Amino acid sequence: MASAPLISIAPPLPFVAGASHADLGEGRLRDSHGRAITDLRISVTDRCNYKCVYCRTGEEDVQFTELPIEHYLRMIRVFVSLGIEKVRITGGEPLLRKGVVEMVAELARMRRAFDEDGVSANKLDIALTTNGHLLEKMAAPLKAAGLDRVTVSMDAVDPETFSRITRVPRSFDRVLAGIRAARDAGLGPVKVNCVLLRGFNDGQIERFAEFSRKEAVIVRFIEWMPLEEPSSAPGSRTWSPETVVPMDEIVARLNAWRPLVDLAPNAASETARRFTFDDGIGEIGIIAPVSRPFCGHCSRVRLTSDGKIRTCLFSQTDHDLEKKIAQGKSDAELAAYIRHIVFRKEARHHIGEAGFLKPSRNMVHIGG
Ligand code: SAM
Repeated sequence: MASAPLISIAPPLPFVAGASHADLGEGRLRDSHGRAITDLRISVTDRCNYKCVYCRTGEEDVQFTELPIEHYLRMIRVFVSLGIEKVRITGGEPLLRKGVVEMVAELARMRRAFDEDGVSANKLDIALTTNGHLLEKMAAPLKAAGLDRVTVSMDAVDPETFSRITRVPRSFDRVLAGIRAARDAGLGPVKVNCVLLRGFNDGQIERFAEFSRKEAVIVRFIEWMPLEEPSSAPGSRTWSPETVVPMDEIVARLNAWRPLVDLAPNAASETARRFTFDDGIGEIGIIAPVSRPFCGHCSRVRLTSDGKIRTCLFSQTDHDLEKKIAQGKSDAELAAYIRHIVFRKEARHHIGEAGFLKPSRNMVHIGG
């Protein structure tokens, strides 16, 4: 692939250290490419109880700290005041984090507060991404606390392949029970995310389609991105273009199994291309950041477990929001800082291009 021109870096905005409270409500959070940023993903822990072979080495442990939940809540409150409409709690594995249910309850209260005082006209959507290992018992309390939706990562529908991926024995039954509990608790539609790796779990595509139809969940296939921890450990995988199972191939495989029917996107910024089957049963999403990048519609910003803002999964740097809190900055000052950083969000990623640089953190340490 030909090398694309370098991203043009926007000139720094003046940092309004003494911004007035009015600045909090001054227009929607936007970047210099004209994209509205409405979707915040926040990692609440760097710990994970799985060692998925395409993500982690299996040798490394926690690399970044966790903050008190109140700090995350304060950061989220400022982001929401700037127009964030969706908050997704992630990790690491977020269900390992003590206090996550109470955090959801606080977010739900925040939603009501913003609705009542009119700062946010939209209902705040509260979602969570989990590997599902601890979900069976937590689904109902999370729903009761105010969680809207859950996405469960599950990279195989047979127990043996699943344990080979997670490197945790008997993990499949736990996750399946978690998915069913989430569905029964009303945390739906439950999305099940599967990262496909050629020669490893791509034999499962049709069985995942069956799974979607039988379990009434949305199965989403995700192209593998170069975000894994580097490792030469046995069983670990290293990204290369050949290991990616691209969208066209997934569509062809599914169509051969049973005719697919296109579904309209739910929103312009939707990352998945959506399908059902000819009888309307089951839903498949395909997220193709490698073969069909959707950066032009990106509406995301991320906060890491140690309180750093990341404007792209492939950022080379992050921006220390927690440090601003430690310096005693006001909410207005945090808001001005967030505006300043988000304005400079990268135009796009450069996967597959000459000179591609891996990001300064791997997926598990950013928050997926
Ligand atoms: N522990 C939670 C979970 O399993 O969903 C949240 C964190 S996990 C890092 C978030 C998502 O990132 C998972 O669906 C995982 O499959 C996905 N992921 C990890 N590494 C990836 C990669 N290199 N490319 C694409 N997706 C990846």
